[in-house]
Amino acid sequence: MLMLSMFLLAHGDDDFCYDEEHCDPYAWGDNYPSCHPLLDSHHSPINLDHQLMKNDSLDSLNLEGFNLTHKGQWGLTNQGHSVVLEVGNGMQVSGGGLPGTYRTIQLHFHWGSVSSNGSEHTLDHLRFPMEMHIVNIKSTHPNLTSALEDPTGIAVLGIFVDVTYLHNENFQSISSALPSVAYKGQTKSIRPFPLVNLLPQNNLTQYYRYHGSLTTPPCSQVVLWTVYEVPVYISWAQFEQFVSGIYSTEEEAANHVLLHDNYRHIHPTYGRSVYASKDAKLLTNGQNGSIKVLGLFMTLKILWEKQLGKPLSSKGLFTPRTMTKKNAR
Ligand SMILES: [Zn+2]
Repeated sequence: MLMLSMFLLAHGDDDFCYDEEHCDPYAWGDNYPSCHPLLDSHHSPINLDHQLMKNDSLDSLNLEGFNLTHKGQWGLTNQGHSVVLEVGNGMQVSGGGLPGTYRTIQLHFHWGSVSSNGSEHTLDHLRFPMEMHIVNIKSTHPNLTSALEDPTGIAVLGIFVDVTYLHNENFQSISSALPSVAYKGQTKSIRPFPLVNLLPQNNLTQYYRYHGSLTTPPCSQVVLWTVYEVPVYISWAQFEQFVSGIYSTEEEAANHVLLHDNYRHIHPTYGRSVYASKDAKLLTNGQNGSIKVLGLFMTLKILWEKQLGKPLSSKGLFTPRTMTKKNAR
C-alpha cells in the first residue's frame, strides 16, 4: 500500500517484489517479520463480504482542502512498486469515525494487467481492475516513522477503479504525466488539481471501515481503512497506460520488466469487525449487487431462450472488467 522504502532507510528499495517467488508477497515475511500473517494479526487487504456490520454513526468524512487547487507542484514518481503522487500541504481528513485529523501525504495505485484485475481489496470476491490509495497520517505525528508506532497512526482511503469506454478527464493530469515516469526512479512535476476529482463524488457517504495494515512491507498493522463501495471509472486507454506503460526496472536496465499485478493477496479477517457506513448499499441489504446482476441475467436468459429456443451461455454477457474472480487467491 505505501511505498515506504524512501522513508525507511533501513531497507533497500529492491527487497520486495510481486513477480518472483523469492521476494513476492508470500515471501515478504522473510525480510519483514510483521508481514507474517499470524493468527492474531490484522492484515490487509481483505475481502469485503456479507459479514460486515452496519454502523449508522459512520457518515461522510471531512475531506478538507480536497476541493481546492493548491499552489506549487506535486511530484509523480515511479518507485518500482507503484506510481506515487506526492501531494503538498493543505489537505486533511477527519470525521467519519476517525479518531483524529489525518494529513494527506500521497496517493498511489495498484493494478492488474491486460488480462487480469489488480485491486487489493475485493468486493464480495470481485476484484476490480485497479485500486487507488490516498494515504494520510495522524496530524499529531511529525512523520511517517512516528505514525507507524501508533495503532491508528494512518488512515487510507481506498478507491476502486473500473474500466469503461469513456475517457475520464479528471485523471488527465496523471494520464499526461505517466509516459514521463515509465521507468523506475523517474519523476515528473504536475500542477495540483482538486483531489476530490479522483473520488466517487456522488457516493462519498458509502464506504466500509476496518482496522488493518499497510499492504506493502513492513506491513505495519496501524491503518484505519476507508474503502469506498462505488468505483470511479477510467477508459481502457487510460488503464492501459498503467498495465502496458509502467516498468519496475530502470531505463538503463538490460531487460525492461513491466510492472503489473502489484497487489497483495487477500487476508482473513480473524473475527475483526468490518463496518458498513450508514449509507452503504451494496453488501448491506441482504442482497448484493452481483446477485442483482445475476438476477437480471437469469431473466434475460429465460427471455432469450424463449425467443430463440436454444440455451444461452452466461459467458461473454454482463462481463465488465469487475466481474471476474481471476487471481482472487
Ligand atoms: Zn497501496
